[in-house]
Parts: sequence; C-alpha cells; structure tokens
Amino acid sequence: MDVEIVKIIPSQKGALEDIASVYQKTFGSDPWNEGYRCPVCEKVFPLSCKEKECPSCAKAILEEYWPIEKIISDFLTEMAKPKSLCLAALANGEIIGFAWGYEIIVDPSIDLRLEAPGLHQLASGVYFYLDEAAILPPFQNKGIGKKLIQRIFMEQNQSNILLRTLNGSRMFQIIQKMDGKPALLISRDRVIMTLDLSLY
Ligand SMILES: [Zn+2]
Repeated sequence: MDVEIVKIIPSQKGALEDIASVYQKTFGSDPWNEGYRCPVCEKVFPLSCKEKECPSCAKAILEEYWPIEKIISDFLTEMAKPKSLCLAALANGEIIGFAWGYEIIVDPSIDLRLEAPGLHQLASGVYFYLDEAAILPPFQNKGIGKKLIQRIFMEQNQSNILLRTLNGSRMFQIIQKMDGKPALLISRDRVIMTLDLSLY
C-alpha cells in the first residue's frame, strides 16, 4: 500500500475534521473501545454499539465519548504548545492515521498533567512528548504506525522522548523495538515510556 506522511498545520480546516474522525474511529475501537459513555453508570461502549439506551443500567441515553468538536478543540490547544508537530499518514489521499506531540519540561507539575505520580522523580529536563497517535483499524498492523512514529521523531530536534500508552499496545511494542523503556506504570493499565534518540 502506498502511504504518504505529511505535515498538518492547525489552520488546515478540512484536515482537522479528518484527523478528528480518525481519532474517534480508532479510540472507539479495540483495545480502547471509547465510543460511547453512559452518563449514569459511566460504563464505556465501543462505537460498534448500536444501542441508544445504556445496555448496562438502562437509565440513560448513551453519549459520544469523543465528540468531534471536543477532539478538534483539544488538538488546537495541544498544537498551541511549544515546538508542536502533527504528521498525518495518507493512503490514496485520505488521512488514515496521525501522530502529534510537543515539547514539555518534566517538573513536579508534570505528575498531575500526565496522571503519573512520581514521574518528576524519575526524569527531568526537556522532552518531546508524543501526545497522541492513531491508525484507523483497517490500516493497523501494516507498519504504518511505525513509519509515522519514526518520522515524527525525525522531524523534531529533541532527543529525549516521553509518551504515555496502554501497557502492551502496538505503540508500546513500536517504542520497545526502538529501545524505548517503560519508566512508570500508572492507572488504568497505562504506562509512561521514555526513549533516548541520541543512542541511534
Ligand atoms: Zn448506564
């Protein structure tokens, strides 16, 4: 498959909606399954769930877990951060994946921001934080994520990388293959990983 990696700038209006759609479809599927949420029992259901009413408690109408407008506004907030960078993967001209990140300073305030108690005691200084990355389910396991991640690391100039992912996820495996290390296990089976690009 012919996949092209391109840089996205936040003023590209159509691109933002495409990225938000990839975000919603990816995180609404396995292993995240954040498609819908019940406002009463707070259970989470995949996008493939066809029920309108909560199948668990039957007390409320399900709400979208990641509304498109919320994804776009979060993205614009992240892209306003220092040294932000967003790359998208295109197949036949359509956005099928993305990765974005920005520079962070690891200090005591980072523990709260990344929900990672004790992180500032394990790391310090400036890092490129890989904030989000997603590949649409039909395009997963084809090496596109790896290509995207390698490109985003190449296109920024910080050698210390930090990210947060699900323990054992595709991202976890890609980073581990690049000699990245799990630094800290945190809540909801997530893990903070660090990667030193100067070792390359
Ligand atoms: Zn419910």
